[in-house]
Amino acid sequence: MLFDNSYARLPDRFFAPVLPVPVAEPGLIAVNAALAAEMGLDAKALAGPDWIAVFAGNRVPDGAHPLAQAYAGHQFGNWVPQLGDGRAVLLGEVVGPDQRRWDVQLKGAGRTPFSRGGDGRAWVGPVIREYLVSEAMAALGVPTTRALAAVTTGEMVYREGAFPGAVLCRVAPSHLRVGTFQFFSARGDEAAVALLVDMAIERHYPGVSGALGLLQAAVKAQARLVAQWMSLGFIHGVMNTDNSHVGGITIDYGPCAFMDQYHPDRVFSSIDRQGRYAYSNQAQIAVWNMAQLATCLLPLISSDRDTAIELATEAVHMFAPIYEAEWLARFRAKIGLVTDHDGDQQLVEVLLQRMAVQGADFTRVFRGLSEGDAMPEFTEPDALSDWVGDWTTRLAAEGRTAAQAQVGMLGVNPAIIPRNHRIEEAIVAAVAGDFAPFHRLNAALATPFHAKPDDPLRAAPWPDQVVRQTFCGT
Ligand code: AMP
Ligand code: MG
Repeated sequence: MLFDNSYARLPDRFFAPVLPVPVAEPGLIAVNAALAAEMGLDAKALAGPDWIAVFAGNRVPDGAHPLAQAYAGHQFGNWVPQLGDGRAVLLGEVVGPDQRRWDVQLKGAGRTPFSRGGDGRAWVGPVIREYLVSEAMAALGVPTTRALAAVTTGEMVYREGAFPGAVLCRVAPSHLRVGTFQFFSARGDEAAVALLVDMAIERHYPGVSGALGLLQAAVKAQARLVAQWMSLGFIHGVMNTDNSHVGGITIDYGPCAFMDQYHPDRVFSSIDRQGRYAYSNQAQIAVWNMAQLATCLLPLISSDRDTAIELATEAVHMFAPIYEAEWLARFRAKIGLVTDHDGDQQLVEVLLQRMAVQGADFTRVFRGLSEGDAMPEFTEPDALSDWVGDWTTRLAAEGRTAAQAQVGMLGVNPAIIPRNHRIEEAIVAAVAGDFAPFHRLNAALATPFHAKPDDPLRAAPWPDQVVRQTFCGT
């Protein structure tokens, strides 16, 4: 692995140098061979003892420069001036054969100066949850951090009980969060913010220039990202500014969930009592987060404060039109429309309303429509017939039949998503030392648009399998 550690070359105040804390007995859970190839790494070697030791934090590879990144953030709207990597260590950056740069981070690698009261560890549950969901997102075409490998530690981690410990090797084009900018902005450290602007542009938005350019690009990327989440029924669950990535990629899979039964107000996170991060609030929260980024960038946008505020406000306000257009484009594609007509939004909304009233399964309705019939997903047999009539008429207006539209729909409406009850099942087995359900689910999620009609992973949960709450990955 060839490292080139640009973050470690930033001034000292950006991070704390820290070594991962070795564990008792590293054991391999998984290596992501496809991702390893993309990064120019030899998957076979990664599954060998030397690399398992690296993934566990027991060996620091040559060229690495381990550190914990400093960041701040708004958690549920409350300002926290210092968070930082409390259970993660950035080993360094690897530049792949295509010149793409990858942060290689160990999550659950022990205490750091940012750990506060925490133990810096992770147990096998959150590790395989993040592995499964982040890789599913990648296969669905959603920008996201990735999972390169996961290992067990041979140590117990104490939460509500004792659970087997694990470490996730997370890779990403950067770990620059809105909260990273906030950390320095709150300290009046304009020089540091300027360095972050340059790094964010270099890593994520080549060709863009200046703080205003970065803000505009970040707003656009975030609007597209959230529209994509919405089109898949995905709820991030903890969209704090420290979990909001400046590169517009999904980061920090804690209490996230894919909805089974559709409802716009759906919330899964056990700690989100007010529903701040409910499904239907995600766009609004993303705007709020972008406004926090804008605030950090003001002094760099213009030396005249009023001008800076005006330009930044304009940039943040770009979110809504981009989001709305992207949302509609994605949902149009989900129902097989290839042209734009007035009334398309209404057509989609009526479908969603019916689904909400009937508690229909989000993924299965759209997949059902793509394969021929979504009626069985509704409790009332005729709940959808008039809608299907309108839809067929609308398709006819672009000269196509439902059968023709369905060809394209099969490529945007997944059959397989990481359903909460399947993740739970994989976690329960993993705690007992059996990783077979994890591997089965992970393999199926790699090709979410292809599945046999009777694949059990397509099924909605039985009432006794429904997961109503998800928990932070601590
Ligand atoms: P998160 O909930 O993942 O967004 O994390 C919020 C903050 O808590 C970050 O600064 C994390 O590094 C820190 N944190 C979460 N879990 C732990 C842990 N087990 N030990 C130390 N710090 C943690
Ligand atoms: Mg976080």
